[in-house]
Amino acid sequence: MSDIVLLGHPVAHSRSPVFQNAALAAIGSPWTYGVRDVDEAGVHAAIDAIRRGALVGANVTAPHKAVAFAAADRPTPGAAALGVANTLWCVDGQVYADNTDVAGVAAMRDALGASGAHHAVVIGAGGAARAAVIAMGATASRVTVVNRTRSRADALVAALADHTAAALDAVDLADRAALRSAGVVVQATSVRDADPVRWRELLDAMPDLVAALDLVYGAAPTGFIAEATARGVRAADGALMLVEQGAASFERWTGRTAPRDVMYDALGAALGRAPGWASPTAGTAEASAGRTALGE
Ligand code: NAP
Repeated sequence: MSDIVLLGHPVAHSRSPVFQNAALAAIGSPWTYGVRDVDEAGVHAAIDAIRRGALVGANVTAPHKAVAFAAADRPTPGAAALGVANTLWCVDGQVYADNTDVAGVAAMRDALGASGAHHAVVIGAGGAARAAVIAMGATASRVTVVNRTRSRADALVAALADHTAAALDAVDLADRAALRSAGVVVQATSVRDADPVRWRELLDAMPDLVAALDLVYGAAPTGFIAEATARGVRAADGALMLVEQGAASFERWTGRTAPRDVMYDALGAALGRAPGWASPTAGTAEASAGRTALGE
């Protein structure tokens, strides 16, 4: 049985065990990281186990991030702002809940040199989009949210307005004029389409774009990344975020600095990417299948 588990449904596809186990081994920890496909009751059972010390901690993924947040004893202010948690651990019998997705998106933003952009656009209105709005709002003065379901974008803006210094607005997908001044865009929907065409019109509406972040990742480049890089826009997919949110979680569980190089190498090997794939200066879009074109 694993000491740290990823709770979600489904979870079998997750690459988190690959780099978390490599990182635990690298620091000489006897703990192991595994996945647990659970329903809501399973999340509560895992939280009880963490409280009892039967589990060291957990990551939480869709669709249980809100349940985990609500069931934990001590949400961090960051998790409280979002109302969703992806990391659980225990101190003195109290289960803490944090959301390290914000750190993951912020790391992508910085790796792409996008922290100077004044206007950010976030596509999507789910949990990942919430993390993206907070991360982008830490450096941009305006964050615009567009989503297939407009009412969810409105609700996100209303919920987060008091948690960021940036001005937030929600606009219709058809309102292309509202996107015109964007310097950076974050694809935070669960669309995994490899076809770049679906993104063409939307990216056309942002002529001054310097960076594009896709929170989705896979062995092959997403259509969003393909369309962005074809325009010469710096782009990275969610593999970078996956490692960085995982590294922040690792530090909550172990109290040790995460061996990020080990984590990047392990995930890169699992995805068939060339060594150094996550370095902003190394490689090109062509260097490996899912390589995120971090250079110009
Ligand atoms: P979620 O809460 O279920 O939200 C899904 C979002 O995708 C909603 O905005 C939804 O729009 C939109 N969407 C779904 N299908 C669509 C379609 N066919 N066309 C247009 N929009 C569509 O999911 P989430 O937790 O935010 O996760 C979103 C993505 O981020 C997932 O792929 C997840 O794997 C990824 N993620 C990656 C990391 C990482 O470390 N790389 C971390 C967290 C999440 P509606 O509101 O209209 O339904």
